[in-house]
Amino acid sequence: MILITFAIYLTYVSSFTSSSRQHSSSKIFATVVEPSLVPPVVDGSDTESVYDSNVQKTYGRYPLTISHGKGCKLFTTDGKEYLDFVSGIATCALGHSNPRLTEAISNQMKTVHHVSNLYFIPAQAQLAKWLCDNSCAEKAFFCNSGAEANEAAIKCARKHASNRGITKPVIVTAKQSFHGRTLAALTATAQPKYHKGFSYGGEMVQGFVSVEYNNVEELEAIVAEIEADEEKGLAAIMMEPLQGEGGIVPGNKDFFAAARKLADDNEALLICDEVQAGMGRTGYLWGYQNLDVEPDIFTSAKALGGGVPIGAMMARGDAATTFQPGDHASTYGGNPLACAAGLAVASAICEDNLLQNVRDRSKQITAGLVSLAAKYPKVLGEVRGWGLLQGIVIKEGYSAGEIVGEAMQAGLLLVPAGATVVRFVPPLIVSEAEIDEALAKFEVAVAAKAE
Ligand code: PLP
Repeated sequence: MILITFAIYLTYVSSFTSSSRQHSSSKIFATVVEPSLVPPVVDGSDTESVYDSNVQKTYGRYPLTISHGKGCKLFTTDGKEYLDFVSGIATCALGHSNPRLTEAISNQMKTVHHVSNLYFIPAQAQLAKWLCDNSCAEKAFFCNSGAEANEAAIKCARKHASNRGITKPVIVTAKQSFHGRTLAALTATAQPKYHKGFSYGGEMVQGFVSVEYNNVEELEAIVAEIEADEEKGLAAIMMEPLQGEGGIVPGNKDFFAAARKLADDNEALLICDEVQAGMGRTGYLWGYQNLDVEPDIFTSAKALGGGVPIGAMMARGDAATTFQPGDHASTYGGNPLACAAGLAVASAICEDNLLQNVRDRSKQITAGLVSLAAKYPKVLGEVRGWGLLQGIVIKEGYSAGEIVGEAMQAGLLLVPAGATVVRFVPPLIVSEAEIDEALAKFEVAVAAKAE
């Protein structure tokens, strides 16, 4: 009786509402006119046209539809084979269909894959311990992506500053940085092109300023300015150890030493964004190890799960205990499935001597790119980077995008880092023969453009 009265009431209300409201209220009577459900499509043959009509156009995609992968190779639905030097944008550290990763997540899936952070999760504890045992950090917070890890770092820095009585905490980041697409991470990303259309009256999230990367004087001046303002205080200096999306620009030791000192002098935090550089990609487990500096916080994602989504905000000292229960959370963060993937990557790094492979292959690819740059000086410029995070500058008159397109024709997948740099980020398991093959294919691509 109560239900019938409620239904009559809703019919009455809906008759006075707009057509869209009528549409939503009619759903309440779904038992009367239930539309038949469309089951998921299982045929993948017209993927591109289904994207066109059903997926938001946030990406400019290359015309490849991937069916499967093995090691450093990817295969398309039309039977073509590519050498993958993108690895899911520096993510698939162990390559594709890796037996160790496959076994770890299959076993975890058969046991339990998600329970929420209301309970203790053995794999999360083990991954946190491995990360702490092998870094300067003392405690982990888990989430799902790089942007989310950086959001956690930003919130932690603000709370840390608030505990010191600062009501206007300022975070200093670097121009040409990249920290992710959520609003605060995007504000930290000091590249105006990414801010366009997302401001409120011309402002992004308050409390961020930026300086030129590797410019000690500018950093010192901006910190002095922040500290001279009675209302404001330095909360953190947040930098990538090597700028990835900004064009493969390694940090320099003097700059990071100055950042460390300024953070210490002002009781603020040094945050390193290790989302792209971390987990072995630079030949050390963490990018900051190339710079002889230890951050208070670093963030990780991408290779942490070898392609299975997981992120972490790692902290030490005061920063490790700044968050209290209720301060921050993530439903999926550190779930059993993602942590099993992280542990598989961790075991591979330790047991398969992956860091040594990164260093050896790094020397090989760097030497190869340098000699190609000497052979094609009209097209290719500086080679820079660490480990297997390498970039080569494309000279004026050519673009990174067109060279990447040409390399694809030659069977090699690459990704630009900005408009003028082509990035090489193969899986960390890449072999000597595969580096040679990539260099040969890259030469074909460059030669085609140099003609
Ligand atoms: N930080 C750095 C240094 C990155 O390179 C990226 C992605 O490219 C991010 C953060 C954002 O990571 P995600 O796309 O997982 O949010």
